[in-house]
Amino acid sequence: MSQRKPEWLKINLVSGKELANFKELKQTMRSKTLHTVCEEAKCPNIHECWANRTATFMILGDICTRACRFCAIKTGLPTELDLAEPERVAEAAEQMGLQHVVVTSVARDDLADGGAQIFAETIKAIRRRLPLASVEVLIPDFLGNWDSLKIVMDARPDVLNHNIEAVRRMSDRVRARAKYDRTLALLKKAKELQPDVPTKSSLMIGVGETVEEILETMDDLRAADVNIMTIGQYLQPTKKHLDVVHYYHPDEFARMKEEGMKRGFSHVEAGPLVRSSYHAHEQANAAKET
Ligand code: SF4
Ligand code: SF4
Repeated sequence: MSQRKPEWLKINLVSGKELANFKELKQTMRSKTLHTVCEEAKCPNIHECWANRTATFMILGDICTRACRFCAIKTGLPTELDLAEPERVAEAAEQMGLQHVVVTSVARDDLADGGAQIFAETIKAIRRRLPLASVEVLIPDFLGNWDSLKIVMDARPDVLNHNIEAVRRMSDRVRARAKYDRTLALLKKAKELQPDVPTKSSLMIGVGETVEEILETMDDLRAADVNIMTIGQYLQPTKKHLDVVHYYHPDEFARMKEEGMKRGFSHVEAGPLVRSSYHAHEQANAAKET
């Protein structure tokens, strides 16, 4: 049974100018037929982020070939590959005046390169339109195809993000097809391919792990030379998804952040509503400054 949601997870709705920003952004996404992980994954921060004119683009369609037990994104067999999508993402980013653009995707295990080329094209299209903006990509594991990873790394994102999602013991139960050790191998390989591109990974907690296991995950990520880590509370998107086993208190998150910083991450963002792309620009800047 899921626990009752504590009061620190209450979400504030927006009004006035912020609500106008929210609506404008929604209109931009619709008019360009773009998807965002903010909407598709039912992110609890959508009001705050969109009111501040930040969003995470989700490319390669809105149907994922996997079905992770924590994720609200639709699953099935995608039928198309939209080659014009990179340009539309870049146009929208320009229209929004973004300084830091975050791009993720569904897993496209049906494609030979897993969608790597579209990621690379999207990075290049954003650079053409917004040469001063930084670009962060949150990529799938490409089923361990390092040629695909190389295609993305050759396009030189400013941050390469790939999520570990769960501690080792819970990984197979929480994620579909992804493997804990493959995630670590990808992060390590990304660093070998482009040593000066910061890497980042996110852990979602509250699904039955122990604090000890969280610390072990930090050690594993540091051993893969990961620079930025985010830790957030799992929230059950629908009754069909995994139950929440534990809601961590904000003070516990603060202690995890301390533990992470002690281990040598250049930045750790930890909190109940922290998501991989929450305040991503600030995370990237903080990592640069250290
Ligand atoms: Fe979107 Fe990320 Fe903000 Fe959530 S935290 S609303 S996914 S930008
Ligand atoms: Fe969601 Fe898993 Fe697909 Fe990622 S791979 S979009 S977490 S179902």
